[in-house]
Amino acid sequence: MDTTQLARFMNLGKKIVGVGLNYRALLIERNLQAPPNPVIFLKPTSSYIAEGQSIEIPEGFVVNQETELGVVVGKTCRNITEEEARKSIGGYCLALDMTEVKHLATWRQQGMPWSLSKGFDTSCPVSRFVSCSELPDPENVNLWCKVNGKMCQTGNTSDMLFSVATVMSYVSKIMTLEPGDLILTGSPPGMIDVKAGDVIEAGLGDVLSMKFPIVDRK
Ligand code: MG
Repeated sequence: MDTTQLARFMNLGKKIVGVGLNYRALLIERNLQAPPNPVIFLKPTSSYIAEGQSIEIPEGFVVNQETELGVVVGKTCRNITEEEARKSIGGYCLALDMTEVKHLATWRQQGMPWSLSKGFDTSCPVSRFVSCSELPDPENVNLWCKVNGKMCQTGNTSDMLFSVATVMSYVSKIMTLEPGDLILTGSPPGMIDVKAGDVIEAGLGDVLSMKFPIVDRK
């Protein structure tokens, strides 16, 4: 796959696979047991936005930012081992897994799906594409996020409960991963309520930073 352009995976990928509760620090903060397997959900590809666009908050939604390493799948993955998974990574991006939290709590209690909470338009802002050579050690990279210039979220991918390779292998035994699909690998703690008028700035190690303003959905 030629993944030198951001547009390639935003247009080519058929799905965005999210991993929930994947940072040990988050489990500790929320006093939660470690899940036995990766917690997987989907976001629609219609939720993608790139820099220059705004995050739009639907009416009545309370939204948090989750700053995450995104992994772009490079080749078809079906029933792959972790070793094969490492060779199937096409590249990376920094992503914000924007999440509605007020309704989500109720929906979770009622056993309802998370789809609207995770899948609203603009809920997947992504950075430019990062090649594998630009990020030689994805299992040890810092993530950070500032809201209105104030640091609220920091973490390192070494704190992941399930590594990128483990997640890819696990998912591939159930759902084929295809070139251009994106995996959102989970968020360290530090999510806060954001609102129209706020600006989110997030960074991936020394590699890049990105900025997204927030507006109300019109
Ligand atoms: Mg997330």
